Amino acid sequence: MSKQRVIFCDFDGTITVNDNIVAIMKHFQPPGWDELVNQVISKQISVQEGVGRMFALLPTSRKQEIVDYAIGNVTIRAGFQQLLDYCREEHIQFLVTSGGIDFFVYPVLSAFPIPKEHIYCNGSDFSGSQIEILWPHACDEHCTNHCGMCKTAIIRSYSADQYERILIGDSITDFAGAKLVDTVFARSHLIQLCEELKLNYYPFEDFHDVIKQLEEMKVK
Ligand SMILES: [Mg+2]
Ligand SMILES: [Zn+2]
Repeated sequence: MSKQRVIFCDFDGTITVNDNIVAIMKHFQPPGWDELVNQVISKQISVQEGVGRMFALLPTSRKQEIVDYAIGNVTIRAGFQQLLDYCREEHIQFLVTSGGIDFFVYPVLSAFPIPKEHIYCNGSDFSGSQIEILWPHACDEHCTNHCGMCKTAIIRSYSADQYERILIGDSITDFAGAKLVDTVFARSHLIQLCEELKLNYYPFEDFHDVIKQLEEMKVK
């Protein structure tokens, strides 16, 4: 019996061409955001701490502007709808595992036929004076990365005995998950990590490349 395929697909920089958190910060320029980005990249602080503190720099009085900018700024990577079609035809489970925030992830993905329960991302609370990020999928006792949205917890809930686990991603939020899965589709920083750790990976430019490779892996 062949294993059921399941795909864990990142959102920012993967489904979308740009990283939306960085785009929001670059546009609204709250003082201190770039220092926080550098601290996350150099691993002085966790992704969870960095993202939480960056959004706490933004006043909720600008909510509409921020939401409109985030949604309006998005470009979807080529072949995404085709990948969803392919997964439906091939009975591949497709999950969005995003370190992004609900107020842009859900509206952008509403254009695609993905059930809401297959989309994992962080939450947000605009009721105070500054934006507060909520963490409905924080790390469990098996993960100490302070991911914010813990991809490894979701991946581990699909057992390696039953599932062929595939991760698609591009960057720091994908590093921990990439070490767990059978196959990685990588762009950008994630390529370097896969090279360093000798993970089983394929670089990709768009989702047409992913479909082609999934077909080849099936024949193998
Ligand atoms: Mg990403
Ligand atoms: Zn984690």
